[in-house]
Formats: sequence, C-alpha cells, structure tokens
Amino acid sequence: MTVERHGGDRPDRGYPAGVVKRRDILTGAVTIAATLLFVGIASSVLSSALKHVLHGTGETDPALVIALLLNVALILIGWRRHRDLANEVDIRAAAEQSARLLAARDPLTGFHNRRSLAEAGAAMFVHAVDRHKAMALLLLDLDYFKTVNDLHGHAAGDSLLKAVAHEIAQAMPPHALTARLGGDEFACGFPFDPAHATLVERVAETLVSRLAQPFQIDGLHLHISASVGIARSDIGCVGIDSLMRSADIAMYSAKNAGRNRFAWFDQSMERDLKTRTDLEASLRSAIPNGEIVPYFEQQIDLNTGRLTGFEVLARWEHPTRGMIAPEAFIPLAEETGMISDLSLSLLHQAFTAARDWDAGLSLSVNISPWQMRDAWLAQKIIKVLTETGFPANRLEIEITETALLDNLALTQSIVGSLKNQGVRLALDDFGTGFSSLAHLRALPFDQIKIDRSFILSINQSAESTALVTAITRLGDSLNLPITAEGVADARIEERLRALGCAKGQGFLYGQPMSVANTRRLLAERRLLQMPQPGIVGVSGTVHRRSA
Ligand code: C2E
Ligand code: CA
Ligand code: CA
Repeated sequence: MTVERHGGDRPDRGYPAGVVKRRDILTGAVTIAATLLFVGIASSVLSSALKHVLHGTGETDPALVIALLLNVALILIGWRRHRDLANEVDIRAAAEQSARLLAARDPLTGFHNRRSLAEAGAAMFVHAVDRHKAMALLLLDLDYFKTVNDLHGHAAGDSLLKAVAHEIAQAMPPHALTARLGGDEFACGFPFDPAHATLVERVAETLVSRLAQPFQIDGLHLHISASVGIARSDIGCVGIDSLMRSADIAMYSAKNAGRNRFAWFDQSMERDLKTRTDLEASLRSAIPNGEIVPYFEQQIDLNTGRLTGFEVLARWEHPTRGMIAPEAFIPLAEETGMISDLSLSLLHQAFTAARDWDAGLSLSVNISPWQMRDAWLAQKIIKVLTETGFPANRLEIEITETALLDNLALTQSIVGSLKNQGVRLALDDFGTGFSSLAHLRALPFDQIKIDRSFILSINQSAESTALVTAITRLGDSLNLPITAEGVADARIEERLRALGCAKGQGFLYGQPMSVANTRRLLAERRLLQMPQPGIVGVSGTVHRRSA
C-alpha cells in the first residue's frame, strides 16, 4: 500500500528496509575499497607529477591518470548511491510504520480497530493489574443508527460516526483507548482506581448524555442515543477477552432496559443470557414440534351481543414449563428471525381448526412489524389460506403503527395484495404509539383497535376516558369501526357501548380458549357447520397440523 507510493519506480521498489540495508552495506564497502584504491593511485600519480614539476624528471603514467579519474568517478557514484540508499531506508521505515498504523486503525474515525484494541487492551489490562489499578471497558452501541443510514444515506451515516467518535474522544480521560469495533459499535478502555468507580460512571453518564443531543450533519438534525455496557477488570475478569464479553452482555442489558443508558455488568446478566439462549434453542424446536398453538379470544358485537369471530393469540404449550404467554417468546422470535415460521405455523393451525366454524365467524391474526419486511409475506399468507381452504374474506390481519414506520412502500404493497384477495386490515394497539391520522390514511384500514390499557382503566382514569372518546370520534369521522380490547367487566362494556364502539373483546366474555374448548363452545351455540361429504378434517379430530 503506502510502501509503493514512497518506493516510486526505482528498481528495488517493493523490497523491505532490511534488504535495502544489506545493499547499503555492500555499496558502502565498494565505496571504501574505491577510496583506499584512490589513496594508493593518487599518491603515486601525485609523486610522479611532483617529480616532473620540481626536477624536470619522471613521466606521469597516462594509464595511472585514467585510473585515478575512474577512481574519482567510482567514489562519486558510490557516495551518491550510498546517500540515495540511506534516504530509501528512512522512507521505507516510515512507510512500514504507517502501514502498521493503518492496519491497526479504523480509517473513518482514526480509532483502534477490533484487532488492535485486543492487543492494546491486553497491554492496558496487564499494566493496570501491575500498578494495583483496575481497567474499565465501555462498550457502546448506537441506538437508531440504522434508521439514519436508511433514511439519509451512507455518507450522512459516515459523517455521523465521525461526529460520534469526536464526542467519545472528548468524554474520555487522558490515555484512554478508543476503538470502533465495526458498524455503530465503539469501545473505550482506561485504568482507574478501584476505590473510585464513580469516575467511570461519570464518564459513562457524559457519553450517554452527549450522544443523546441532536447532531447537526449536512443541514440535518439527527437524533440517536447510545447504550453502554461497562465491565471492570477486577471483578471476575481474567483477561481482556472476558472483559470484552462482560461489557458486551452489559451493553445488551442496557439496550433491553430501554436504550439511552449505561449498565454495569453483573453476574445475574450472565444467567439471564443463559436463560435466553436456552429459551431460543427450545423455541427453535418448539415451532416444528407444534408446541406453539393458537388460542382464540371472542370478539363481540357490542350492540347485539353476538359473537362475530376470534382474535388468534399464540401460546406455547411447553412440555415441562407449562403454558408460556406470547410476551415471553414473540419478541425473541422476532429478534431471532423465527417469527415468520412461527406465524405461518400458527395461521395454518388456526385456519385448519376454523374451516367448519360458522361462515359468519371471522379470524383476526397479529402480524409482527418484522414480517412486514418480507416482500413475499402476502403470497405466503395466501398460500396458507389456499392450502387450508379458509376463505380470505373471513380473515383480518392486525398490524401496529410500527409496521408503517419501517418501510411504508413495502407495507402498502403487501397490504394491497392481501386486500385484493378480500382480507381485511385492522390497526392494532391504537393510542399507545404515534396515533397519527397520517398513519390511518396511509393504508386502507377497515378497523381501529384501541389498546387494552386505556379500556381497562376507562372508569378510573380521566385521561383514558378522554383518549377513548377522541378515538371513537375519529373512527366515526373516518367511518372506521372501533374494536375495544380489554373489556374486563360489564361497567366497561356499558361505557363503550355508550361511546359507540362497534366491537369488544376481553375477559368479560371469557379467557382465550384452546382449539378444543373453542370448538366445544361453538358446538353448544350451534355455530359449527354440518359435515359435508368429501371434506376432510371437519370432524374435529385433526386440528394440530404444523406447517
Ligand atoms: P394484543 O394483540 O394487544 O392482544 C390482546 C391481549 O390482551 C392478549 O394478551 C389478551 O389475552 C389480552 N386481553 C384481552 N382481554 C383482556 C382483559 O380483559 N384484561 C387483560 N388484562 N388482558 C386482556 P396475550 O394473548 O398475552 O397477547 C399479548 C400480545 O402478544 C398481543 O397483544 C400481541 O401483541 C402479541 N401476540 C400474541 N399472539 C401473537 C402472534 O401470533 N403474533 C404476533 N406477532 N404477536 C402476537
Ligand atoms: Ca392484536
Ligand atoms: Ca392490541
């Protein structure tokens, strides 16, 4: 790399400084030999010339004169070559040094890279131990950096990373190590007095608060924040590797606790990580094993009290741990990319179970924002509908506003394909997120669902009442029926009916039920279709078919 630039087009270009140095010695030796020869020849030429001038005797041998001149030329050439080579050695050494530096540095920020941090960090670790100090390692991951990159392009992203590096360098104590580990992940290390760990906290606080301030980049106001994990060498760390690992675990804990904060590593995090890894492994086999099953929550027409359909809710029937609620595994399935398989398996089971239910009953299913990144989602859902023979016009999909933020164009195209088949669309959890009118207009919704937290507290909290009232009015003006979830008692139901909510669901009508229990309820209410000749699976025995 740089060696080439300094080497120019000289014949010895590309040789390392050591080889040049050996050649330098050879040239030096030739020059010294030529000089010695010169002394010999010159003295004999000079003495015969002197004799000629003083005594008129003796002849200067012309061959000796030529030899002398050649000798002078040899010395001059040798000396020049020696000087060039000496320069060359210096240039080579500088180039090698700069190449070493470049290999150890992140080109964007000038910080250490991951590899050189490991080396420099190990040295700092040992040095700190020798001087009865401790080393703190801060691992920092930017929150929402990907959004900046996606929205404003990589050039803005790079400028932002440089500005972040500047802030980090400013916040560090003297002699700190600063590194960029790749992407939007940084690390910093410095020694501290173990009795004064507050110093480390102050540095972390400064970092977090500075990075939460908006950045002005190319006329843009960019908002990010940082999650920082901190580990200290004197608590359970044997070397730089375990220090890095602990800081990494602490960083994830800071992220999970809500980002824009720092967290010290502690042993319980290690246990949490193990629990999570174990859960992830068992979830991976739970999906094909059919342990994730649909439960059905009744949806009621508030004016007539009639059952209109069910919301499909995922449950994990764990062989040893019993029933696990979706909040404990849906986020994990999303983060690990298993949500798509999980959801399709659930749809398959729910549609299969509902094939012979009364034709007036609909199914609402939750579609995660993560699934909306899959350009083939609509086709996958339609395939399950076709395979199970469940009519598209009895299906409603529920999405949250988050799904609109990520990639609106893709979401619109997925929704468009589904609506073409007759699938309906509901906006879930309205009131908790942005609750924006623009979002309601961005997609052809058929229904708004008010989050259960407002409904559950409608009779206690004036704020909830105001919000539910506002949303029902909005629904009226947009001609969008409202479903209220979390109808836990008759007073809530009464209130909602008065406000004009179309539908309700909640524990007042019963807990979500398994396939078998739902079937029993429908049989009691005569809401099962009579078996028709030639249709399999309607007798109620084959319901758990995994996709
Ligand atoms: P959600 O979509 O808001 O679902 C409604 C949740 O409210 C359900 O909890 C339901 O059991 C609960 N609920 C209904 N009525 C009442 C009530 O009167 N009182 C109380 N306290 N709670 C009530 P669940 O089944 O635990 O589901 C929680 C969340 O998990 C769901 O919230 C949904 O966001 C997610 N989820 C469930 N199944 C799936 C799924 O198949 N895919 C995806 N992506 N998410 C799912
Ligand atoms: Ca829902
Ligand atoms: Ca909801």
